[in-house]
Amino acid sequence: MTKLFLSFVFAFVFCASPAFSELNQNPNFAKNIIGNVTVFSLIESAFDHPKDLFIYPEFKKNLASYLAKPQSRKSTITAFLAVTPDAKILFDTGSEPKILIRRLNEIKIEPEDINFICITHMHPDHIGGLININEVPVFPHATIFISEREADYNTNNKIFDIYGDKIKIFDTNEEIIKGIKPIQAYGHTSGQTMYKVTTKGRSILFWGDILHAPVQFTKPDIYTHYDNNPKETVGVRKNILKQVANDKTIVAGAHLAYPAIGTVSKTKDGYKFIPLSK
Ligand SMILES: [Zn+2]
Repeated sequence: MTKLFLSFVFAFVFCASPAFSELNQNPNFAKNIIGNVTVFSLIESAFDHPKDLFIYPEFKKNLASYLAKPQSRKSTITAFLAVTPDAKILFDTGSEPKILIRRLNEIKIEPEDINFICITHMHPDHIGGLININEVPVFPHATIFISEREADYNTNNKIFDIYGDKIKIFDTNEEIIKGIKPIQAYGHTSGQTMYKVTTKGRSILFWGDILHAPVQFTKPDIYTHYDNNPKETVGVRKNILKQVANDKTIVAGAHLAYPAIGTVSKTKDGYKFIPLSK
């Protein structure tokens, strides 16, 4: 199972190829101002997932037809920077510190400027940007938040030694930073946790890996080989999609296509992602 997972991680990271030629926007990041918060989508890479990543056991035949549709497997690895009046906060870090630092420098931010990092889960494409090749912290002044359950399943990860007491393990649904609440979303990993930022009556949900590709908006029952507990993953995804489609919460997803941030609408038999304009 671990071997299978690693081979997918390998495919995931190394099959990535830039695909921005059709876009007029800045290919590397998108900037959106929501209430008092400026959110930058920091795009590490863009690619199409391989078809065999996806699983839909009940309707195998239908899966092929959904995946045949253009755009259905379009994805990215994206980290997010939220600049609030009080702090600079990263949501996940992608897999590559060099690229993340480059993205931050493009918007005139140094790694030393980052105050907080909220980790959704500890897969390498979310925490890989935390440490460099010499195994020193990339973000020396940041406090890093990880849910207790996610930390408990990853106790041997070297980030705990490297960041020491800069890592804050939490077990709460209450605010961890002013205006930022964690929300449990177990399934994809044992302790995956989303973060909801509320500003001037609007909410932005940094949802980690609630889904990996557009085909899962169309058919939320489709899961992937990355998902630790498929049943829980699908259940959580359906609940969250229903909720954000109802209340128009802005969602920011680590694997959504550029600009990786937008809203969700209900369609006849599934959902549709509507990117924010910038
Ligand atoms: Zn991921």
